[in-house]
Order: sequence, then C-alpha cells, then structure tokens
Amino acid sequence: MNPYQPEFQQQQQYFASGVSRSLQWRRQQLQAMRQMLQNHQQEWQDALQQDLGKAPFESWLTEIAYLDAEIRHTLSSLKKWSNARRVKAPLMLWPSMAYVQPEPYGVMLIIGAWNYPLQLALGPLVPAIAAGNMAVIKPSELSPATSALIARLIPRYLDAQAVRVVEGAVAETTALLELPFDYLMYTGNGQVGKIVMRAAAEHLTPLTLELGGKSPVYVDASANIQLTAQRLAWGKWLNAGQTCIAPDYVLVHKDVEQQLIDALQQQIKQMFGDDPQQSPDYGRIVNSRHLQRILGYLQHQPKVLGGKFDEADRYIEPTLVLDPAPDSPLMQQEIFGPLLPVLTVSNFNQAIEFIRSREKPLAAYLFSADSQQQQLWVDRISSGSQCINDVILFMAVAELPFGGTGPSGMGQYSGKAGFDQFSHLKSVLRRTFLPEPPLRFAPYQSWKQRVLG
Ligand code: NAD
Repeated sequence: MNPYQPEFQQQQQYFASGVSRSLQWRRQQLQAMRQMLQNHQQEWQDALQQDLGKAPFESWLTEIAYLDAEIRHTLSSLKKWSNARRVKAPLMLWPSMAYVQPEPYGVMLIIGAWNYPLQLALGPLVPAIAAGNMAVIKPSELSPATSALIARLIPRYLDAQAVRVVEGAVAETTALLELPFDYLMYTGNGQVGKIVMRAAAEHLTPLTLELGGKSPVYVDASANIQLTAQRLAWGKWLNAGQTCIAPDYVLVHKDVEQQLIDALQQQIKQMFGDDPQQSPDYGRIVNSRHLQRILGYLQHQPKVLGGKFDEADRYIEPTLVLDPAPDSPLMQQEIFGPLLPVLTVSNFNQAIEFIRSREKPLAAYLFSADSQQQQLWVDRISSGSQCINDVILFMAVAELPFGGTGPSGMGQYSGKAGFDQFSHLKSVLRRTFLPEPPLRFAPYQSWKQRVLG
C-alpha cells in the first residue's frame, strides 16, 4: 500500500467536513503563516544561509518579505475574490440569475524547488489556502535546512490536519504522485515537469507547472548603460544566478557592447568587492553536482572574464562569457548559475529573431529608451512575463500573474490569478418556478405557431 494513503484519506475526509469553506478558517491560516514567518525570521535566514549562502537581507527581501506581502494582499482581497461573480443571463431565461462560484478543488500536492525553497513551498500555499484547499507540501531535498524548518514549523502554526509536510526526494515524490490529489502544483525543471504531468494524466488531475528556461535580455544602443548594468548585475548575481527568472544571456547592440561589458565588470566590483568569495552578500551554488554542471558550460569558451571557483566552498565567481557559439551547451541549456553570456547583434530585429527562434522563455527583458521598440518587444516576444528597463521586479506587483508559457510552464499564480488558478470556477444558473412560454419543449412546431399559437 502507498505509505501516504492513510494520511491522505484523513485529509480528504477533513476537507469533506467543510472546515476550509469558511473564510474565517482561511484567514486564520493565512494570519498564522504570517506569524510563522515573523516569529522565526532569524531561523529562516539561518536555514537559507546554510542551504544557499544567502545573505540575510536577500532572504528577507526575496523570500520572507515577498511572502508577507503576498499574504497581506490576499487577506485584504479574500472576501472580494471568493464572492460569487454575477454574469448577465440572456433575456429568454428571465427570470434567472447566473454567476460564477469559486470553489476549492480539495487536497493539493505542492512540490517545491530548492533555489527559493521557502518562497516556492509557501508561495503556492497562500492562494491554495485562500481558495479553501488543503495541501501536502513536498519541499526540495536539495535545500535540507529549509525543508526541515518547514516540516517543523508548519504543524505548529497551521491546522495540522489540513496542511501536511512530507520531506524527501524522488522516491517520496513518486509515491505521493500516485495518489489521486485534486490538484498538482510543481515548481522545477521541465524533465521532472513531464513526470508530474504524466502522473496527473493518470487521475485526470488539473495542474500548474512552474518551469524554467533561458530568459533573454536585449540591450539597445539607446539604453542608459550604467543603469542597465547595475540592474542586470543585481538580477543576474542574486542568489548566485540560481533564479528561474534571472537574465540567462544578453544580446547587446554592437555600438554599446564594450561599454556594457566594462559597466558590468564595474558593477560586480561595486556589489561584491575585489574578491566576491569574501563578500557576505554573494551566494553559493546549491551542491557540487550543480557546480560541476555550471563549470562544464565554460569548456571550449575562448573569452571568459572570471571563471574562478572553489569547489569545497561551492563558489563560482560572477563571470562573463563573450561571444559564445549559439549552439554551445552554454547557449542551449538554462544556465541557472553565475555565468552571463554576452552576444553582439547588429540591431533590434536581429535580437528579436534570435529570441523567437528559441523556446518561449519564462521572462524576457528589454533595455531601450525607444518606446516604439518597447511596444514591438511586448507584441513580438512571447514569454511568461516581461520587464522593460529592469529585471525580475514584476514579481513585486502582486496583481501581475506569474507563470510560464510553452516549455517554461503552464498556469499562473500570485494575487487573484493564484486564487482563480487553485479554484474551480463553477458556473451556476438559478431559475424560479415562474411559468415560461413553451418554446423549447416538444412537441416541436414551427416557431410562428408556437409563439403566435
Ligand atoms: P529540484 O531538484 O528541487 O526538483 C524540484 C522538485 O522535484 C523537488 O521537490 C524534487 O524532489 C522533485 N523531483 C526531482 N526529481 C523527481 C522525480 N524523478 N520524480 C518526482 N519528483 C522529482 O529543483 P530543479 O528542478 O533543479 O529546479 C530548478 C529548475 O526549476 C530550473 O529550471 C528553474 O528555472 C525552475 N524554477 C522555476 C520556477 C518558477 O516559478 N517557474 C521557480 C524556481 C525554479
């Protein structure tokens, strides 16, 4: 028998009791989640430092404060989102009332990834609970300190019958995926995404897949290069490049190529000093396997600025790779590490063609002062999200849905999009017993006969 079956059944029964239907219960859980983040801020920061060498401020900004803002926004809008949504019914159905009633799916499985291990486990839990679902959370085994803390604190703060945590790796996740969950939410790479989707097919379970990809950047000659380099350097070397929406590679207009490279090198120094290994603000690679994978991308690259590493310390320095071949592994696979390829293009259209000839990315970034280019970028590049003249910051807008398209994922969350994604939007038509003209009933006669008698 599946080892998780008994607890799963209890959770299903608990869901069937209707406890999570009440908005009061949902609010309590969300408030408790806020408390759990606030009361243990130091422990979260320590765990994230242990797993990824994250600076405490970075952990606060990208995980704790991010979640707190998401919960506060959800709490303030919960009533509105969960209300029935009235729609117009046609006159021939008069008198009647038509509306969409959001209802929870049931018990969800949330599978998290390691790079933002707190945010990716609890971020989906916020809309899941808000929509009235219960959940099993499976944090990533590659960030064990954060996983253990999640497993220890969740039952202390949340309704332990409604939200459970299962720690573990492939074997545990495989066993969980055999169960007929009501919704699956997976964050991670596309290969495992396919496994999750196959498991979902077995039970016809709806799912959201938050995947990755190579998020491109184009820097036009019209851009303010200093600001561009500063913003790019922040987004690229945040969490040592292990961010799903990090700029993966840069296409730069030939007229400003050298200027951009100089400015990026200056920014690396400015942010992390002469020796980034000594900087308290620069993170570490999650494990040796990923470190070796990333270093592998540097092989056969003739123009590498940087590239120092220290395997024992899981450290790779912020590195630029100039003019890599577009068909090299560096330019074919998601880098997910602190290497930034810079390729030169002759103009905006060449950049657009380059990006459009590849898989649809999770994010796409344009740096340009030309408003016509900005509009063309939005019109012609298909990606999960976009930022013009900055990177990553769309995440700070609670009402911008977050998610990929094509190989970068399906489904969206954050704000109302998350609430709707994890709700079944049930259509309801209510009628009365007022008699109606017999237009639709057999025996069928001509329309004229029936209307005029
Ligand atoms: P990971 O190794 O932590 O794996 C993700 C989850 O899948 C883990 O919980 C793991 O236990 C589980 N898993 C691994 N192998 C499995 C298997 N064979 N069967 C069932 N479950 C399995 O994380 P990762 O995949 O290395 O994450 C990095 C990828 O995730 C990158 O591509 C990144 O872009 C993407 N990502 C996307 C988002 C997003 O929101 N779109 C966020 C973070 C990361």
